[in-house]
Amino acid sequence: MQYEGVLRKMQTEIGNPIQYYMVFENDFLNVNQVLDKDLQISFIKFQCLNCGQDRPIYRQGFCKNCFFEIPSAGDWIMRPELSTAHLDKEDRDLEYEKKVQLQPHIVYLANSSNIKVGVTRKGQVPTRWIDQGAHEAIEIVEVPNRYLAGITEVALKKHVGDKTNWRKMLTNDVQDENLVTWRNKLKAYIPKEAEEYFIASNTETNLDFPVLQYPAKVKSLNLSKTPTYSGKLKGIKGQYFIFEDNTVFNVRGNEGIYVSLNIE
Ligand SMILES: [Zn+2]
Repeated sequence: MQYEGVLRKMQTEIGNPIQYYMVFENDFLNVNQVLDKDLQISFIKFQCLNCGQDRPIYRQGFCKNCFFEIPSAGDWIMRPELSTAHLDKEDRDLEYEKKVQLQPHIVYLANSSNIKVGVTRKGQVPTRWIDQGAHEAIEIVEVPNRYLAGITEVALKKHVGDKTNWRKMLTNDVQDENLVTWRNKLKAYIPKEAEEYFIASNTETNLDFPVLQYPAKVKSLNLSKTPTYSGKLKGIKGQYFIFEDNTVFNVRGNEGIYVSLNIE
C-alpha cells in the first residue's frame, strides 16, 4: 500500500484503544491497522499548510511568511492569556479571533509524564489530551472565553508544571495520580474572575493508547536529516509513531512536510 500527501496532525477517535487516522487529500489511513507492519516514510518536499508552497516549514506547519501573517498563528494561540477579542481588540483578524476566542474553554490537568496544566477549547476535549499523550486528565474550570482560561493557566502554573517530558511520555515512565485531589488542591489558586467556573463534579478520563511495545529509550526521526526511514511500527501515543528500533516520529511536529508512506 502506498500513500502520499502532506503531514497533518492525526485525527483521533476515543476508544479502547484510541483510533488514529492520517488524512490526506484523497485518502485516509487508520494507522492502528498498520501496527506490527513495516512502514517506510520518505520526505518529498515541503508544502506550507496555508500557502501550499514548497518553502521550509517554520512552525506549526506554516512557512515563515505565513506564520507571521495568518490569524490562526497569532501569539494568543500558544499564550491564551494574550487573547483580546473579549475587549473587541484585534490582533490580526478580529472576526476570526472572536470566533475562536469567544467560546467555552477548558483549563485542565493532564498527566502525560508529570501533571501539567493546559488550556483547550471545550470542543477539543478529549482530543487535546490524546494529542499530548496523557494517560489521564481532568477538567478544572470551564470558562466562556480564551482569555479567562489563559489567566487561570498562568496562575496555576506557579503550582504545577505546564510542560510534558516527551521522552518519559514515550517510554511510558509514568505514574498514576489522583487528579481529583490535585484539582481540589489547586482550587485555591484560581483567579477571582474564574472562580465561579470551577468544575467540582467531573471524574478523571483515562486514555488507552495503541502501543504493543514501549521503547526503552527513544531517538527522534528528523526527516530533513534522514529523508527515508523504514521500521516496524509498534505503537502510537500522543502524535508520535513508535518503532521497534526505538525510533520515534512526531507526526504533528512534521506538519507541512509532504511525504510518501509505504506499508509492507
Ligand atoms: Zn506559507
